[in-house]
Amino acid sequence: MSDADKTPSTDGTEQTPKNFIEEFVAEDVAAGKNDGRLATRFPPEPNGYLHIGHAKSICLNFGLADRLPSGTCNLRFDDTNPAAEDTEYVTAIAEDIRWLGFEWGDRQFFASDYFEQLYQFAVTLIRDGKAYVDSRSLDEIRESRGNFYKKGSDSPFRERSVDENIDLFARMRSGEFEDGQHVLRAKIDMQSPNLNLRDPPIYRIRHAEHHRTGKEWCIYPMYDFAHGLSDAIEGITHSVCTLEFQDHRPLYDWFLEQLPVTSHPRQIEFARLGLGYTVLSKRKLQDLVTRNHVSGWDDPRMPTLAGLRRRGYSATAIRNFCTRIGVAKRDSIVDVALLEHALRDDLNADCDRAMGVLRPLKLVIENFPEGQVEYFDAIQHPEYPERGQRKLAFGRELYIERDDFMEEPKKKWFRLAPGREVRLRYAALITCKEVIKDDSGEVIEIRCTWDPESRGGNAPDSRRVKGTLHWVSAEHAVSATVRLYDRLFTAENPLAQKEDPDAPPTSFMDHINPDSLEVLENCKLEPDLASLEAGKVVQFERLGYFCKDTEDSKPDALVFNRTITLRDAWAKVAKKSR
Ligand code: ATP
Ligand code: MG
Repeated sequence: MSDADKTPSTDGTEQTPKNFIEEFVAEDVAAGKNDGRLATRFPPEPNGYLHIGHAKSICLNFGLADRLPSGTCNLRFDDTNPAAEDTEYVTAIAEDIRWLGFEWGDRQFFASDYFEQLYQFAVTLIRDGKAYVDSRSLDEIRESRGNFYKKGSDSPFRERSVDENIDLFARMRSGEFEDGQHVLRAKIDMQSPNLNLRDPPIYRIRHAEHHRTGKEWCIYPMYDFAHGLSDAIEGITHSVCTLEFQDHRPLYDWFLEQLPVTSHPRQIEFARLGLGYTVLSKRKLQDLVTRNHVSGWDDPRMPTLAGLRRRGYSATAIRNFCTRIGVAKRDSIVDVALLEHALRDDLNADCDRAMGVLRPLKLVIENFPEGQVEYFDAIQHPEYPERGQRKLAFGRELYIERDDFMEEPKKKWFRLAPGREVRLRYAALITCKEVIKDDSGEVIEIRCTWDPESRGGNAPDSRRVKGTLHWVSAEHAVSATVRLYDRLFTAENPLAQKEDPDAPPTSFMDHINPDSLEVLENCKLEPDLASLEAGKVVQFERLGYFCKDTEDSKPDALVFNRTITLRDAWAKVAKKSR
């Protein structure tokens, strides 16, 4: 099945709520709130590529909208911070969401489209005596806002007249002042136990070029101000966000109560996804890119959607993972094995089988005539006979996996060893007769005989052979570079600090796995793989799933990425706990 065949159901029929957010939404719809409308949004800031954490939010927001035939989900770029944002990210984000299987039609918006309206809202606040220009530095302002233990103190500028504020704010806009010279603040309550309500800044001066509005503006709205009002402008009914915004909810509501907006969205928070052995923050991922720890945002080790896709993850696997982890109110780190489990589930059903030898060892069949070729049938997929068979060329010289031979076999070693007979998958039984080594003592060739009676896997009844090896014909195989990936960090939570309060703080960079990439050259693959479409994943029998690299693979220089091995750590854990 291709990904296109597996997009989520969008028939919009009423479904039973699966989590507390769906319950809230179902309640509101049933109570006739918002005239029975349901409108959500996914609001990325275009300052980096989307990661698997964003996928959780995307599945949730688009999934909610799917609950009603008239439900909608907007894609809104939250582009209020010109310094870090770029059109490159806008394009990549849209591509990633589409790839995940979600569509927003003409419902694509930018917070920057509302800059004029947001400015007017700020002016309204000033006129109503609910905002003022503070002319101290951001540091001084921060200091005066106090903290959890210490109440805030009023700014000497707090009682500026409306006229003076209107005048200063207009001049801030016209570019008369430098960055940081003035800030517009909401006038709420410097004594509030909630720090977010202690006169938060809502506009700051920033002489920077914006990727969409260019140099039109030199003042930009702060997130808390712009976000809720953008929601209201778009008529969003449910504004779903991550837990760290819980304490911002009173502020979200405050702006909506003070200003003449026609809708008041309900903010609902959920736990952000954390995933083991990686970091999910665009800033930190950006650091990995800038410091060349990875080849780019789409490096197959990155937890970005672009990286996962290049690694060979299917959109279905990611969506299934998001469904399985559910939505909760408590932050936690999800075991990567769960993501890998969802991936294997999908790949196992989807991917055709193939033969590939990663660390080739030459094997010569002495009683096989030179120059002769036999062809054996190999099945494409064990569970889907309708996918048919392919022909595997078999000759006198083959390659097997170096790891499948042991000169002095240990106990329970069922693969090849001197004097041993094993099966070559789909082909025949072979017996090891001789081992050839180079001057350094390294095994460079295995000489065997085959039993022609056992052709096509029909071993004579009397013989029980335990080991089955994969192989390719030396004459027919194509060479390839294969990249093996391991986790990017050696610590499950690279952000965790040592418990000892006197220990120096560690950076997540301290936990980078130096062996997260191993590149194997001159791997030998069955020849059909040369024409495999880039981005396609196949299972190399006994080894794992491998994806033809979309960036670097060339017809005369094939490159495959190991998506994942066959061993399923999660299934084992699950079995044990049962
Ligand atoms: P980052 O730290 O990666 O930049 P962010 O929250 O600043 O994350 P945004 O572009 O603002 O990134 O995120 C868009 C939406 O995705 C927000 O609604 C945010 O709550 C959600 N989101 C971001 N990270 C996660 C995560 N790890 N799990 C679930 N949702 C997330
Ligand atoms: Mg953000």
